[in-house]
Amino acid sequence: MGRKFTVRRLLTAALTTALVLAGTPASAAPAPGGPGVGDDYYPDYGNSGYDVSHYDIRLRYTPATDRLTGTTTILATATQDLSRLNLDFLLDVSSVRVNNRPAAFTRQGEHELVVTPARPVAHGAAMTIVVQYAGTPSTEVGAGYTAWIKTPDGALAIGEPEIAWWWYPSNDHPSDKATFDVSVAVPDGVEAISNGFQPRPPVRETLGYTRWSWRSLKPQATYLTSLVIGQYDVTTDTTENGQTVYNAYSQLLEPDFRDAAQASVERTAEITEWKSELFGPYPFEAQGGVVTPPGTLGFALENQTRPNYSSAFFRRGSNTSVVVHENAHQWFGDSVSVDEWKHIWLNEGFASYAEWLWSEKNEEGTAQEIFDYLYATYPDDADIWTTAPADPGTAQLFGDAVYDRGAMTLHQLRVAVGDDDFFEILRTWAASQKYGNATTAEFTALAEKISGQDLDALFEAWLFTPSKPAVAQAFAARGVPVAPKSWATISATHELLHRH
Ligand SMILES: [Zn+2]
Repeated sequence: MGRKFTVRRLLTAALTTALVLAGTPASAAPAPGGPGVGDDYYPDYGNSGYDVSHYDIRLRYTPATDRLTGTTTILATATQDLSRLNLDFLLDVSSVRVNNRPAAFTRQGEHELVVTPARPVAHGAAMTIVVQYAGTPSTEVGAGYTAWIKTPDGALAIGEPEIAWWWYPSNDHPSDKATFDVSVAVPDGVEAISNGFQPRPPVRETLGYTRWSWRSLKPQATYLTSLVIGQYDVTTDTTENGQTVYNAYSQLLEPDFRDAAQASVERTAEITEWKSELFGPYPFEAQGGVVTPPGTLGFALENQTRPNYSSAFFRRGSNTSVVVHENAHQWFGDSVSVDEWKHIWLNEGFASYAEWLWSEKNEEGTAQEIFDYLYATYPDDADIWTTAPADPGTAQLFGDAVYDRGAMTLHQLRVAVGDDDFFEILRTWAASQKYGNATTAEFTALAEKISGQDLDALFEAWLFTPSKPAVAQAFAARGVPVAPKSWATISATHELLHRH
């Protein structure tokens, strides 16, 4: 559940109380929910009027035809007296039921499914919404593209911010997190992989299909819920503290990338253990990673408990940087999620800085050396300087300012407050915002509180000003720094990460 909704609910409660005191009716006539949650960048993403607690997604998928049929059951609570509500979805819907009665439904705009329950739903009441649907996801276009990827042997539902629309109806915004059960029947011998753990092993159904089940018990954003279908080789293990590790490698990987991919992704548990020392306990119930077929996914994504990687990351050999990056997101992005998309540097700046810390730990270049190198080598008119990380706009949502300047901001903070306070800030941030939704203002306030310093000038220059900030060090005197050893891998990694 997002903070935004909690605040709205409190406000609504206060207003209702005020109305009662004034002698007017306690509630107005039921009204339609809105087609968006109020995100500045994506006004029609997510919906208002209700709050989802659980998705039960039950699918059948045939790789040969890209035919997906499904039933998604949504448990939600109305956050107003509701006459109508929207879901975000692209596939063809055959029926919708709300609280056990058939509901009317229609399409609006590109991705809105407008549902009118047979009876209005009272503010605070529980809703069970059942949507039945079918379609060919690879033929659907939303936000100007098709996020669903058909692969030679299956499909990938991996994307940010858009992906849920192609495979399950939802309140598609990170501020409304929920738990998930995902179950998919695929032809016998095909793997179907999602987030969390398997509450039961794959079960054979009739007619040559096997059903795979996955469960996520911690709050999870809709875009972080993934589905991977195809021919995969799986490795499983259990960590020292009892967590399941489930990794999968496409059988289409060339033998040479396959080894490099395994030499990277098999180190996931070691990497999360190292991070637990820096950021606090790993927030979820399982770990792992999936390496997708060559020529399909062009990036990596921090899907909750189980990031998905393009095989391109491993083409030049092992790459632990990208494993560090995606798993740092388990703390920063997945557990602590953005309240609105404009706060994306809270995800990407932090995950990028984790790569610098990994470089420092491995003696392949300190964070200061990487900072110096970037500061000296990005041209003055580069996007990194002309974009403010804390308000990058949609065109630069995954740009250099968000990743590299975001990490540089954290490094400047570390220099200003010292290592003890810096890591205390990161740990307190991860703990106090665990499973929630956060804003840049909340982070800067926490940094000032823990350090006891006024950091307004630092954050203003680094996060909010679209020009190159001044720093104390005199680079001119030292000449252009040499690239740290880790930089080739980190920059190649970021090149691919920017593609989504
Ligand atoms: Zn990232």
